[in-house]
Amino acid sequence: MISVEEALDKILSYVEVLEPEEKPILDCLGQVLASDIYSTIDIPPMDNSAMDGYALRAEDTYGASTLSPKYLGVIGEVAAGYLPDKEVEPGTAVRIMTGAPLPAGADTVVQFENTDEETRKSSQDNLSQIGILCQVEKGSLVRYAGEDIARESLALGKGQVLRPQEIGVLATLGHSTALVIRRPVISILATGDELIDIDQPLPPGKIHNSNSYIIAAQVMKYGGIPKILGIGRDSLQSLNERINEGLDSDMLVTSGGVSRGDYDIVKDILAKRGEIAFWTVCIQPGKPLAFGTIEKGEEKLPLLGLPGTPVSSMVAFEQFARPALLKMMGKRNLTQLSIPAIIENDVKNNNKRRIYDRVLVTKRGDQYYARLTGSQHTGFFTSMVKANGLVIIPEDTKEVKAGDTVQVQMLDW
Ligand code: AMP
Ligand code: MG
Repeated sequence: MISVEEALDKILSYVEVLEPEEKPILDCLGQVLASDIYSTIDIPPMDNSAMDGYALRAEDTYGASTLSPKYLGVIGEVAAGYLPDKEVEPGTAVRIMTGAPLPAGADTVVQFENTDEETRKSSQDNLSQIGILCQVEKGSLVRYAGEDIARESLALGKGQVLRPQEIGVLATLGHSTALVIRRPVISILATGDELIDIDQPLPPGKIHNSNSYIIAAQVMKYGGIPKILGIGRDSLQSLNERINEGLDSDMLVTSGGVSRGDYDIVKDILAKRGEIAFWTVCIQPGKPLAFGTIEKGEEKLPLLGLPGTPVSSMVAFEQFARPALLKMMGKRNLTQLSIPAIIENDVKNNNKRRIYDRVLVTKRGDQYYARLTGSQHTGFFTSMVKANGLVIIPEDTKEVKAGDTVQVQMLDW
């Protein structure tokens, strides 16, 4: 039985970063940029005003105060999207709106609040003059051309994950598409004679195939594209037929059929059609995990055999399939966020495996607390529904007591 780290290293050694694809920027959310983006323009493209006010020469404000305003002649107005048609000479100002280009001759903007505009407006003044009520420094409230992103500079680097703000940079620079590492297609195969499709009534002795949908949702949550292969029966022929339908994907994920039972034949498939890299991991739940490859011509398609019990399948997916998927997507940070929390239950570790129990993490004051979500028997799928994290009890820790500080891997944050 290998450790969680050994199993993960092995799996990651079998998966590669996928090739890039060019797509509309909104379809790239969460994907990794595959090329450096250099700006061909200055952002902002021209010197412009940071606020609504008056564009003027700073010198003309020297000595100004509320009690002794400096009066300037207003020679025009400029709104965002238009070019100024007047040059600011000493003793003059141009009324300017946020984002409007700074007129020639002006070096500073004074916001409305620091002028007597309000008083003038209430006395029906035609605003041909304006009183400046304070002295300002040269350059204040001016946004200079290229100060955010300079022309020819690196705006976004290869390897960056595209979040809304990076999509914003692409849009600002006028890119309608981006080159990103493509999303992996993950084929999902449920196995078991007891399984019934979710749109069918349940005959006695059968259960609905929930795993395919849980796994597909996990694949989607982390940015992959699920391809549901349906239900394979507990026979070599049935599983082989289904697996053949998934050979065009980037990874196969099966559920069930990896324990020691009479019908656990996923390992047999791996042995016959490729190789078993490992079977069983020192983890609870999720111990009967199988990983290997299926031969596909010259290539080897990775196959991750998750345990059948839905809780075990989900927990094992988080530890092993999620990082593999993220690596294929070109992501560099494959580690799930974990936080220290105070556990509110006693937890025993009798069989020296790494435990991932389902907990609900809450914050009280500055401290995080983690409480088990009821029975941790893997048969209780609702323990997963109530959880927002997995408490990690190391393999060499025999017991944690309520009040101890533990690490919790967050499922939602
Ligand atoms: P196995 O690993 O095939 O022995 O399955 C372990 C347990 O998980 C059994 O109780 C199965 O009925 C259950 N199980 C297996 N596959 C699924 C599935 N796709 N959906 C829901 N439960 C499943
Ligand atoms: Mg089974």
